Amino acid sequence: MGASGSRSVLIPTLAMLLVAAVVTDIVRRAIGGTGPAARAASPSRGGAVAPQAEAVGRDAPLQPNPTDRLDSAARALALARIENGGSGTYLPAMLEENDSVLHRWADDRAKRPLRVAVLRGDTVPGFREVFLANIAWAIGRWNGVGLPVWLEQDPDTAGADIVVSFADRLDSNRTGRTELTWQRRGPIVKVQVTLATHMSDGRQLQPSQMVALALHELGHALGLGHSPAKTDALYPETSATDLTSRDRGTAILLYDVPPGSLK
Ligand SMILES: [Zn+2]
Repeated sequence: MGASGSRSVLIPTLAMLLVAAVVTDIVRRAIGGTGPAARAASPSRGGAVAPQAEAVGRDAPLQPNPTDRLDSAARALALARIENGGSGTYLPAMLEENDSVLHRWADDRAKRPLRVAVLRGDTVPGFREVFLANIAWAIGRWNGVGLPVWLEQDPDTAGADIVVSFADRLDSNRTGRTELTWQRRGPIVKVQVTLATHMSDGRQLQPSQMVALALHELGHALGLGHSPAKTDALYPETSATDLTSRDRGTAILLYDVPPGSLK
């Protein structure tokens, strides 16, 4: 009886430690941006825009919580580093987008790779073998940035940190969706990425578009928010088939400051 009593306390406690946010995205209909403008994915990570969260039936609370906060010295140092980054990063835009909260994998994940399980989409209409190579290439590009964390493909979904799967199409004109789960102080603990094989108008994604989508969603999986610059891989309507110096610089800076609320 005693055991069940302590479990009933433990479960709500654990539940409070984890929150989740959803990011949804679209790739441009034509690489290079010559196609008709797709409806912009709202540059939101989390609770600010309800429809995105509702789209997958997940709540995404992002109200600052006292336990999220770093001490004042750590906050001041982090803000100074971000300011010093100048226009070379979009960390300031990320803070604005996400109510001054940064999420990323914890420093101790440098000791063991982030395991990425890519589920084959053999039963998903429009799935192409080349998409797996597109994702592997995107993983390699992020690993080339030199972050303290390392992405490693592993077919074991049970122990995966990041699970990537395919869907025929997503709602609301999106082609990508990333769901982050993090602990109260900011470290990401689990990510689910969904990549669509078709755009909402029914056209299949081309390999170059899957590259752009995978680069973008894996950026979210590492903790990056949206860039306001059209050429960056983390621009909401991405068409970038490689990372820019701003993408790399933003990721490096993100892992150089502690996760959590900088408010
Ligand atoms: Zn996005």
